Amino acid sequence: MKALQLVTHGAPGKFELRDVPDPQPGPGEAVVQVRSCGLNHLDLWMEEGGLPIPIKLPRTPGSEIAGTIVAINPGSAGVLPASSPSGGQRDAGAPSWKIGDNVAIQSNLFCGECEFCKRGEDSMCLRGELLGVQRDGGFAEKVLVPIRALVQLPDGVDFDTSAALTLAGSTAMHMLTHRTQVNPGDWVLAIGGASGVGSAAIQIAKQLGARVISTASNDAKWKLAQSLGAEFVVDSNNPQWPAEVRKITNKRGVDLVVEHVGGDVLGKCFDCLARGGTIVTCGATAGREVSFNLWPFFVKQHRLIGSYGRNRADIKKTLEWAAAGKIKPVIDSIFPLDQTAAAFAKLRSRHFLGKILVEPFEPESEPD
Ligand SMILES: [Zn+2]
Repeated sequence: MKALQLVTHGAPGKFELRDVPDPQPGPGEAVVQVRSCGLNHLDLWMEEGGLPIPIKLPRTPGSEIAGTIVAINPGSAGVLPASSPSGGQRDAGAPSWKIGDNVAIQSNLFCGECEFCKRGEDSMCLRGELLGVQRDGGFAEKVLVPIRALVQLPDGVDFDTSAALTLAGSTAMHMLTHRTQVNPGDWVLAIGGASGVGSAAIQIAKQLGARVISTASNDAKWKLAQSLGAEFVVDSNNPQWPAEVRKITNKRGVDLVVEHVGGDVLGKCFDCLARGGTIVTCGATAGREVSFNLWPFFVKQHRLIGSYGRNRADIKKTLEWAAAGKIKPVIDSIFPLDQTAAAFAKLRSRHFLGKILVEPFEPESEPD
């Protein structure tokens, strides 16, 4: 099969499209033909070698995968290993997988056995691994994954929709419905409304009955945030944007900020909070070291909550919402596998709106 391998770190890194042996599933593993795979900022960190995790090259990146099962090995006893009923990972009535099933893949691989997995918190797994970082990912015709990472694609959700939502969309779902809570009438500020997490956060908050404000850095992003349901958009180029947020809310501030940028932006988010308000954050692309004033933090009884990845339940919910039309992907462009390096360059350029996808495998029977 063909696989796009990162052979040297850099910005840009060096990629090679190579012929590699087809993966063979060991016990508890499945091979999925990759029909669509989304790009994320994680891929750029991986390309640059900027992750605080040792990475062995060559490596096939790609974390946000949707495709079709082409081989499966349930294990010697026909029982799915490491997905014991007590683990909470196998839902009652979970599908018994078969070749030809269409699936999304949970990219934060989890052991299914540790204290946290046992209570359904796969995103806190003690032995978690990132697909496309610590194991070969989806910029290849096929990918080898643990069976417990498979999530069934609901009817009506196509591969591109899944690949555009399962990572950033389920990250936002985890932030808004698991790590925090949104009540009808709440004010929610979604940072970067045109980003993967931001665009999903606007839609989820809106569905939960919130009034949504977003930030945007240009007209196109502004319009996109509005079209997704943001009632107000503030210009993130204006250093005084938190004052704009306070003005919109009659100086009250917002109940929840969905933050995924870090750096100075996180500090500014505190200025946007109402009393008792919460910031939930899942990223640090703009800086990992942040300082903030503790005095207003405790006086106004704010909360700062970390959020990482997603649980299986968050992916299922995201895909169910997609099937019901409650959340829609925003797709910028789709590249074939041999153009993956160009897809990375586009992501790095920041000149895009929505998700960039790669389609590694296109069935011959399906004309474009
Ligand atoms: Zn675990």
